[in-house]
Amino acid sequence: MTHAKRVAVIGSGFGGLSLAIRLQAAGFETTVFEKRDKPGGRAYVYEDEGFTFDGGPTVITDPGALEALFTLAGRKMDDYVSLMPVDPMYRLCWEDGEVFDYTNDAGQLEAQIRRRNPDDVEGYRRFLEYSKAVYEKGYRELGHVPFLDPGAMLRVAPALIKLKAWRSVYDQVARFVSDERLRQVFSFHALLVGGNPFKASSIYTLIHALERESGVWFARGGTGALVRGMVRLFEDLGGTLRLNSEVSKIDTENGRITGIHTFPGDSDRFDAVASNADVLHTYGRLLGHTERGQKQGKALEKRSWSMSLFVIYFGLKRVHPHLKHHMVIFGPRYRELIDDIFHAPRLAEDFSLYLHAPTLSDPSLAPEGCSTYYVLSPVPHLGTADLDWDEIGPKYTARILDYLEQHYIPGLKEDLVTCRTLHPFGFRDELNAHLGSAFSVEPVLTQSAWFRPHNRDASIPNLYLVGAGTHPGAGIPGVVGSARATAGVMLEDFGLPVPAF
Ligand SMILES: Cc1cc2nc3c(=O)[nH]c(=O)nc-3n(C[C@H](O)[C@H](O)[C@H](O)COP(=O)(O)OP(=O)(O)OC[C@H]3O[C@@H](n4cnc5c(N)ncnc54)[C@H](O)[C@@H]3O)c2cc1C
Repeated sequence: MTHAKRVAVIGSGFGGLSLAIRLQAAGFETTVFEKRDKPGGRAYVYEDEGFTFDGGPTVITDPGALEALFTLAGRKMDDYVSLMPVDPMYRLCWEDGEVFDYTNDAGQLEAQIRRRNPDDVEGYRRFLEYSKAVYEKGYRELGHVPFLDPGAMLRVAPALIKLKAWRSVYDQVARFVSDERLRQVFSFHALLVGGNPFKASSIYTLIHALERESGVWFARGGTGALVRGMVRLFEDLGGTLRLNSEVSKIDTENGRITGIHTFPGDSDRFDAVASNADVLHTYGRLLGHTERGQKQGKALEKRSWSMSLFVIYFGLKRVHPHLKHHMVIFGPRYRELIDDIFHAPRLAEDFSLYLHAPTLSDPSLAPEGCSTYYVLSPVPHLGTADLDWDEIGPKYTARILDYLEQHYIPGLKEDLVTCRTLHPFGFRDELNAHLGSAFSVEPVLTQSAWFRPHNRDASIPNLYLVGAGTHPGAGIPGVVGSARATAGVMLEDFGLPVPAF
């Protein structure tokens, strides 16, 4: 009788959980080791005074990619978690009071474009066609296949050239629409996956087509309910999740992985290890005792890394029905502010914000008559600006809450019941994220596909990566796609059939 192969997944982010489900469903004996006391990684849940705060991702796109995990395991997603559509997908606001409801109702969207600049309607339609073409190639076709050798990159080069992938998101949008605010409307998405709209490859314009095609969704009970649903699926299949189990070392022998060590000193043997932890942490720390780990760790230090985020989670003893579930609040500067976030060794005076108001969709996330929020401001990572966030954090919080009170949420401070923050030190210390980056290796063309850390290590044959630091990159659809890519390689390596979806 042959025994099931034993696999360890390090980290329970969306990428780690998706991979673990795929592996367990395929017959591996899978154990997920998670450092923190709850699963989800960046999608951790905080609970204060009856308020429930999703720590990170709130905008769910491509629900089909999540549903596929349940389907391939022979289960129904509805039995585990339900998703509800959010409309408008986002409300975009500027300081002078202008509002743009970013919706996937074509008529409403075009009416708003026409109001700003009638000449841009036609350009927008051409942009949508372009974005759909990128989405078909870059996401549907290549978003879940591993790029393990340079040949794979060469094969897609003609398509990348045809799609003008060397241009930035903003440059490409600017070729279709001329109004500056509309350019912001269709380029800010790069920031959602840690990219600089003025530098990230125009491939990331695919997010527009993705949202237009399948909408924006929210999990009933919050993103945390989706994480819990995935964990329950994994455990129903027989998988094991070990919380409060930080991996301290990946063991190797003769160039292969043999097992892992956890704090405070347990060890276990595995046939393969897949790391969902930060890629530099994986190589530099967990494999720092090997030549391969040191070499890759040094190489990764030279990469450019995505910005960090400053997030304030707050609960109010009042509801504000005039707000929308997802709001993007543009400050006075766009290009210049983004330039500061990615390059300046200090914190900018102004900010642009994303405001999450989930109780507008699901009031169960706050006590009766109350409302739950988080507001985030993209900020430089610790390598760009070496700031003491413990010191400036409270002042920055006060500035942002003042601003929100003045422009969007009257009486905010008087109604404040609870407030906590997550800043670059939290990403660094809680999540082991290099430089406190919120989205890992920056999504630019020269760090994408084959140029990104690979789904299977090039030298250690039974070491795999999954999550934001590997192909295709950050964001829930990205890391769920990375899990499909990594699972495919692992199943092939172990001679098992690869599911068609
Ligand atoms: C505030 C915020 C908002 C976001 N909003 C959205 C959104 O609306 N929509 C969207 O699609 N994306 C969003 N994103 C991006 C998205 O959340 C991430 O790209 C994605 O969740 C990352 O998943 P991952 O699989 O890479 O794992 P991560 O979430 O990074 O999880 C990695 C896990 O590994 C664990 N770990 C690390 N080291 C060890 C170790 N040594 N031993 C054991 N465990 C370890 C960590 O504790 C963590 O749980 C957001 C991100 C942030 C930060």
